[in-house]
Amino acid sequence: MIDYIILPNMRCTRCGEVNERVTEQLYINKEPHSNTYTVGSRFDLPDDVEGFAGCDYVPARPDVVIGPRLRVLDGWTCRCCGAGNLCVLLFEDRVLVEARSVERSLMIFAEVDLVEADLPRWWVHEALEERFPDAEGIEFLYLTEILEVIRTGQMIAGDENED
Ligand SMILES: [Zn+2]
Repeated sequence: MIDYIILPNMRCTRCGEVNERVTEQLYINKEPHSNTYTVGSRFDLPDDVEGFAGCDYVPARPDVVIGPRLRVLDGWTCRCCGAGNLCVLLFEDRVLVEARSVERSLMIFAEVDLVEADLPRWWVHEALEERFPDAEGIEFLYLTEILEVIRTGQMIAGDENED
């Protein structure tokens, strides 16, 4: 059983095309129900961070509390050019009230509560390499480590020797 989500009116950040209906597989429910969800649907969201982790969504901060209002960073693929894009899903009392396509920016991680674990990450690596040009192994960081680096503004200590 697989659930699907239909994201309406998603503008691609690469080609600029507005995708009127983007259909993606959905794994954020506690259990799959073979349903199709969209804005206005009530979801079967997990109750706590551990439950979301079981669905492959990681907390954007260590102190995230699963409350009635949740912002989730997820991915979608443009049907016109195939580019991987980002969207923020806003849930209120388990109802999806908004799905917004967003630009790739490290700032976005500070605006959300949960992040889909399999998001395309090359752009995060590029942004971090720009910010920390001397750091090594950025491409090997786990998502949780990336989130920590972004949150603290500090590169995780590696083998570098400081003079
Ligand atoms: Zn596109």
